[in-house]
Amino acid sequence: MPSILQCMDCSQQYPVDKIIYNCEICGGLLDVQHDMDKLRHTITRETFDRRLGTLDAPYNSGVWRYKELVNPDVPDGLIVSRPEGNTNLYAVPKLAEWAGVAKLYLKHEGENPTGSFKDRGMTGGVTQARVLGVDRVACASTGNTSASLAAYAAWAGIEGIVFFQNKQIAFGKLAQAIAYGATAIQINADFDRNLALVREVAGALGIYVLNSINPFRLEGQKTIIIEAIQQLRWQVPDWIVCPGGNLGNSSAFGKALHELYEIGLIDRLPRLAIIQAEGASPLFNSFQRGFDRLEPIHAETIATAIKIGNPVSYPKAVRTIRWSDGVVEQVSDQEIMDAKALIDRQGIGCEPASACSLIGVRKLVDKGVIKSSETVVGILTGHILKDADSVIQYHNGTLENIHAQYPNHLHQSEASIEALSKILESRQPTHA
Ligand SMILES: *Cc1c(COP(=O)(O)O)cnc(C)c1O
Ligand SMILES: [Zn+2]
Repeated sequence: MPSILQCMDCSQQYPVDKIIYNCEICGGLLDVQHDMDKLRHTITRETFDRRLGTLDAPYNSGVWRYKELVNPDVPDGLIVSRPEGNTNLYAVPKLAEWAGVAKLYLKHEGENPTGSFKDRGMTGGVTQARVLGVDRVACASTGNTSASLAAYAAWAGIEGIVFFQNKQIAFGKLAQAIAYGATAIQINADFDRNLALVREVAGALGIYVLNSINPFRLEGQKTIIIEAIQQLRWQVPDWIVCPGGNLGNSSAFGKALHELYEIGLIDRLPRLAIIQAEGASPLFNSFQRGFDRLEPIHAETIATAIKIGNPVSYPKAVRTIRWSDGVVEQVSDQEIMDAKALIDRQGIGCEPASACSLIGVRKLVDKGVIKSSETVVGILTGHILKDADSVIQYHNGTLENIHAQYPNHLHQSEASIEALSKILESRQPTHA
């Protein structure tokens, strides 16, 4: 049986070659539903282990290695891949100690081709655009989705269109979208308004929408989890922790875990913790009230990648939390930036939103939710250079309302041995 689109609420089905983002009957979000019975009988851990290290497309991609779980029916020749994925899973004992857990791994999705996990979704989405034969794709974005869409559209030879807000965009992301040749438009509106706009405009002009409302994006993003568990030799960690903005990742992670369990590649589910910034925490607020409803807010946070007040994938994120006995936590901008400085200082580095994963672990250990004996995988979602401004400002103390706990001051010196000696002999080495 080929894969189909299925409404998560009323189970209405649609063929995968229909351009549709919400159920026509009830408005619910759509899932790409694969033939799980067939997968259970044909896919084993060895299927995916055999493909590790291959030089050949499409299995050299950390997304398409798991093609049967992503988009089984797509002809290999239509796949648009850079290739993405194959990101490192770092054991970080010093950060584990700081956070208070026995074992902490950080999976660095900033190591993707355009510097964020969005590439895993975009290879899925732009590949589907080619299956559908469309030649224009669009998204609204806080930045990384645009950078990724621009790159994959260029690689596929189709037009990319990106809607940015006109303030608080991390410069690296804007630069990428322009450089990769997308039609880039700044709009005097926040992300949530821009997403509504892109959907209206795309509908009117016949443009394919590649925000995470697009279920083929989520199929690609599932592979973050699948790859992490494969890197752990299929040993399931106790917790997976990730930042939550529009909640595409949270949604994809739940679906990945559910499917891995269903086809017998894992024998239990890890618990998922979704971490939001205090100024952008509608999921956290709803979690506190037993998920009664989503109340959209006006979002504010230094972590621009998660500055989202009306997350489109909310229902799927709630489903993930229920499936995985998960939790939602919130953290302050101060905590985010200090945790980021510690990750950076390891020599790894990440953008602000990613640091939610580390500070989230520490907070949940403090609250007794995560036990100190447990194994945790945290997801670093974006590359340190995406938002270099925030790094410099943190370390020179010019970030508004942030008092850096771990600053590394930039020294100024005359070009003389005396002046340099003075700095180098007085400097106390600081190791996190
Ligand atoms: C998109 C993004 C997020 C938020 O992910 P969602 O799937 O929207 O919840 C977090 N961090 C970075 C770096 C991102 O680019
Ligand atoms: Zn429906």
